[in-house]
Amino acid sequence: MTKSVVAKKVIVVGGGIVGCLTALRLAQRGCQVTVVERNQIAAQTSGEASWAGAGILFPLLPWMYKDEVNALALRGASLYPQICAALKHETGIDPEYTQSGMLIQPPFDAALALDWCAKNNIKTQQVGENLLLPQVAQVRNPRLMQALKQLLIQQNVTLLESTQLEPLTNTHKIDGWKTNTGKVLKADSFVVTSGAWSFELLKDTAAGLNVKPMRGQILLYDLSHQAVADLPTNIIYRDGFYLVPRSDGLLLAGSTLEDVGFDTTTTGAMRQALQVKAENILPSLKHAAVIKHWSGLRPGTPDNLPTIAQHPSIENLFLNTGHFRYGLTMAPASAERVAALICD
Ligand SMILES: Cc1cc2nc3c(=O)[nH]c(=O)nc-3n(C[C@H](O)[C@H](O)[C@H](O)COP(=O)(O)OP(=O)(O)OC[C@H]3O[C@@H](n4cnc5c(N)ncnc54)[C@H](O)[C@@H]3O)c2cc1C
Repeated sequence: MTKSVVAKKVIVVGGGIVGCLTALRLAQRGCQVTVVERNQIAAQTSGEASWAGAGILFPLLPWMYKDEVNALALRGASLYPQICAALKHETGIDPEYTQSGMLIQPPFDAALALDWCAKNNIKTQQVGENLLLPQVAQVRNPRLMQALKQLLIQQNVTLLESTQLEPLTNTHKIDGWKTNTGKVLKADSFVVTSGAWSFELLKDTAAGLNVKPMRGQILLYDLSHQAVADLPTNIIYRDGFYLVPRSDGLLLAGSTLEDVGFDTTTTGAMRQALQVKAENILPSLKHAAVIKHWSGLRPGTPDNLPTIAQHPSIENLFLNTGHFRYGLTMAPASAERVAALICD
């Protein structure tokens, strides 16, 4: 007689990049997964970071961060070619993974940069006074999220959208978690991947969790009518600011780093500041139209270090949150780690 194995039921709280990749990894490991999202997955409603980000799959000046941050980011970045190929193949939606390279312009500490790149096997090329990292890649966030949503559906992951989990009250084990629709959701394990909103959800049970929203505003230029020769092919970084060219002639210019709580407003002052910086790097942008301006709330944490752990006193609660500036890059590695904690 064969004994049937009952799949572990896991609820993932939050459908951003961290939640979706966590759900995918858990499903691939044989769990029965539900993603609960208060809005719609792959949409931008109220500041979700994963839709809003620039799509650079590498830290900006990684030599300025701790080894733990870079270990997650480099592992995450290394998994993207395979993830994006599978997404395109399985769903027909192309996240446009492109190894466009990143050109770093001064000021930066060249000796430190070259030393870090050599130690981490990152190729470099000196271009005048600039440093080119040719392996740095990018994706298009909205397309990546749409493809992931589609793949989750194809993998029989349940997507419970327009459903918000209520703040958790202290307990040793979660028997059921209340939603704003009056339902109580039950599972063997729960994973919180609710980004900038994680602390609001867990403050009664995780007072030490240091995650707060950090707003980023970003502009989208349309350069599709300009001569191809005028368009940069690399991501360009200068002094805390970057330009990210897309294959269809659109170009992102960002971003701001603002500590303004859950306010997702875009402001005229920041739009102007971003335009000045963008046009200093690439003067031809003066003749291009800004076709979109938006903001997102990053899950800000000290030292950019996320929490990927089992809750110390609630046995069936896991956290995968606080990826701050590099959540897109880190998400595949972070998903791998939290899935191992739940499944192994
Ligand atoms: C302007 C900008 C540029 C960026 N650029 C880059 C970049 O180039 N490269 C990079 O690696 N990273 C970048 N980032 C950072 C990256 O976007 C984030 O670190 C990452 O998206 C965080 O993902 P997340 O899934 O944790 O959060 P989110 O995408 O915010 O997802 C959290 C989800 O949880 C849901 N939620 C919250 N509370 C509840 C609840 N109670 N019940 C149900 N659902 C809930 C929210 O609606 C949301 O959809 C950028 C961010 C911004 C804002």
